[in-house]
Amino acid sequence: MKRTRQSDKKDDESIKKKVEFLRVIDLHSILAVYKYPKNSRKDALQARVLQLLKGREISETQKQEIRKQVEKSFDKIQALARQRSKTPENNEISSMYQQQFNATPLTPHNVAPFITSGFPIQPDVKLKRLAFYDVLGTLLQPSTLMPASQARQQEGTYYFHLTPQQATDIAMNRDVRNPAKPEYLIQVQLRFCLLETTSEQEDCFPPNVQVKVNGKLCQLPNPIATNKPGVEPRRPPRPVNITPHVKISPTVANVIHVQWQTEFNRAFVISCYLVRKLTSDCLLQRMKTKGSKPSEYTRGLIKEKLKEDADCEIATTMLRVSLICPLGKMRMTTPCRASTCMHLQCFDASLYLQMNERKPTWNCPVCDKPALYENLVIDGYFQEVIGSQKLGLDDNEIQLHKDGEWSTLDTKEEAKEQVKSVQKVEIISDDLEVVTDDLPKSNSKSSASATGTAAKPNADTVDLTLDSDDEK
Ligand code: ZN
Repeated sequence: MKRTRQSDKKDDESIKKKVEFLRVIDLHSILAVYKYPKNSRKDALQARVLQLLKGREISETQKQEIRKQVEKSFDKIQALARQRSKTPENNEISSMYQQQFNATPLTPHNVAPFITSGFPIQPDVKLKRLAFYDVLGTLLQPSTLMPASQARQQEGTYYFHLTPQQATDIAMNRDVRNPAKPEYLIQVQLRFCLLETTSEQEDCFPPNVQVKVNGKLCQLPNPIATNKPGVEPRRPPRPVNITPHVKISPTVANVIHVQWQTEFNRAFVISCYLVRKLTSDCLLQRMKTKGSKPSEYTRGLIKEKLKEDADCEIATTMLRVSLICPLGKMRMTTPCRASTCMHLQCFDASLYLQMNERKPTWNCPVCDKPALYENLVIDGYFQEVIGSQKLGLDDNEIQLHKDGEWSTLDTKEEAKEQVKSVQKVEIISDDLEVVTDDLPKSNSKSSASATGTAAKPNADTVDLTLDSDDEK
């Protein structure tokens, strides 16, 4: 059949408009056999389809095949929209969508992001950064788990591809000493979260979710039992390492099949990333590389704290602070705290990171408020105290003075008392134990200016395996 130039042009226009309505998954499946930017946003994928149709890169038969696929996907989307509009509880957006779809020329800018449910296909959702993973690339942009009907139980299919480099990186960084369970340093990470664009999102699993990657069922973190009546147990908010199920090849598409239950007024988003798994040692090294907060800073805080209370009835001239880490109950080696915390009391960075490596809660062990990795700082002042020769092996607590200097406590009697105040320090949320002026000055055996360096304290290891782990 010989077609005229005129009708060719008209066809082109029609196809172009239809391409603009296709979903990312449609575009991926059309482009699967061609070279295309795998991690691009929708408009780049659309441009690639149009480019293939227009250029001389592929044969006329291949172009026909693409046109056929475009038509087919477009019809499917339209059918979904129709199905939706027939239901009595049809929402406003979908009927609006439907009207525009039928009555007006296709104008993708105002309607293209909305299909049937009124949710955008690829919402601008940002997930919270995870301290233990460096993101190397996005494999699947955050995509809405799109309900296709009114049914509670839904399913959807999502695709991602690896570039040759990404496939090589995964393959070269795996530890196959245990062939039954290879360890991957570079992983494909699956994350779910709420469709919410106003703030960075925590991981959040949809209810009754089930995930298959290339036909294999994925192990998701077990739901945490709750004793609240009527509340469904939720899975702990964690990313899922799906690398063992991924086809580590740039020539084949990876298929993620998701089943989930819809929730009233809430929608969920799925996304996939190529990440590098980090260890707590690595995070500690990064903290050390970043450097510690200068001791002058903490000295200023001490002065400020002791000055602040000057108006109070009881004048505070000293603060006591423990050198025992509230996590491991032993002398800190790398004293740190979050810049978001109000207290001076530190905890041991290494222990804190190890604990969060096993179970990421990122709660300050002193005040129980969030103490995120990016806000942790090694405290130079306490680092100097711990390294000081003035400090005896038994000195587990020091006094801070209003000039910003510190001194050790004196008698054995005091040493016994320390144990009490150590416990006290753990539970008070906002500040340290306050020591008033009635304590005789003679009690301080030395008044050092936190500058000494020597006497490495003992750093015993804590058995972290004793910590509960809900993932196992
Ligand atoms: Zn705190």
